[in-house]
Amino acid sequence: MTLESRIIAEIREKGAITVARYMELVLGDPEGGYYMTKDPLGEGGDFVTSPEISQVFGELCGIWAAEAWSTQQLGHADLVEFGPGRGTLMADALRATKRVGGFHDHVDVQMVEMSPVLRTAQQRSLYGKHPRVSWHNALPESDRPLLVIANEFFDALPIHQYIAGEDGWHERLVTLPKRGDGLVFTQSRETVPILPYLLPVGSIVEACPLAVEIMAGIAKRIAKHGGAALIIDYGYMRLHGVQASGSTLQAVRDHQYHDVLHNPGKADVTAHVDFSALADAARRAGAQAANILSQREFLQRMGGKLRVEQLLRHADTPAISDNIKAGFERLIGQDAMGELFLVLAVTPVGAQAPVF
Ligand code: SAH
Repeated sequence: MTLESRIIAEIREKGAITVARYMELVLGDPEGGYYMTKDPLGEGGDFVTSPEISQVFGELCGIWAAEAWSTQQLGHADLVEFGPGRGTLMADALRATKRVGGFHDHVDVQMVEMSPVLRTAQQRSLYGKHPRVSWHNALPESDRPLLVIANEFFDALPIHQYIAGEDGWHERLVTLPKRGDGLVFTQSRETVPILPYLLPVGSIVEACPLAVEIMAGIAKRIAKHGGAALIIDYGYMRLHGVQASGSTLQAVRDHQYHDVLHNPGKADVTAHVDFSALADAARRAGAQAANILSQREFLQRMGGKLRVEQLLRHADTPAISDNIKAGFERLIGQDAMGELFLVLAVTPVGAQAPVF
């Protein structure tokens, strides 16, 4: 039975499902979920992420974590990556921090990954790179200081959407069409008392309770036991507490935009990350959230240009040099990833996050 027919069966049985339930099934269903059954990353896959574009990305994330570890004198700590994809970022981070005195000896590496296929890819990438690496479905409970890296993890978490009507907010739902095949959007008949402010009829706002919960768990531990978190993703900041008023739900397959409701499980479905909500969650949990930087600012302040020059000195052919330069340019590009991607740093109150 395909994932689509199981979704249809669930709607027939229980009625229309929320956008969050739809995302959860499309991405994480053990049998047909997008991430669960294949490795979607890279030029030959559906989309490319920063660590797959340039090794400099993972290296600088690793150096950032090691810098936070050393300035806060954390001693034994956990270095945790959420949603590590192919394990490329962590492999680059570990290579770049090999010579940071004591860092590798003092940290245990933990990978929070739900996909069995990607866990296997990560095991391959990290083979021989660190003596203590373990895999988890969620952040393990611990009193140790915590260092977190998460690139393009939060955008994969299920969001709820609400549509402004004449009479208040309605939750956006996925259901079956009156006639024909497939799935269509609809909205709840009853209103949801969620938002105090008024937006024009038809506006859509989004909420990601799971992102808030995960961020709060990370921040609570950092506030109490020390550490730092680096959250990188494409997303937005709210202006005056109000979110931009459209759907940010999108599906991508084979590097092309795709209908979100078409062929569930075959395309990556994500939403833009609400960085204001993440920063608020971290502050409410007692931690400090630094001013958000663009990916461009972050990589430049971390010395990305110098690292690129260093790599260029060792490049054997012009083709390799071009590749190194183009890769880094893509990450900091002003009309692309450099500005679209934002970086949030969380630390204990009073501890400065490196370069923020
Ligand atoms: N960080 C990687 C991969 C990003 S793709 C990179 O930059 O290349 C999203 C990753 O998050 C995948 O590894 C996916 O399997 C994982 N993921 C998505 N939702 C998850 C969840 N709820 N729990 C654990 N891992 C999740």
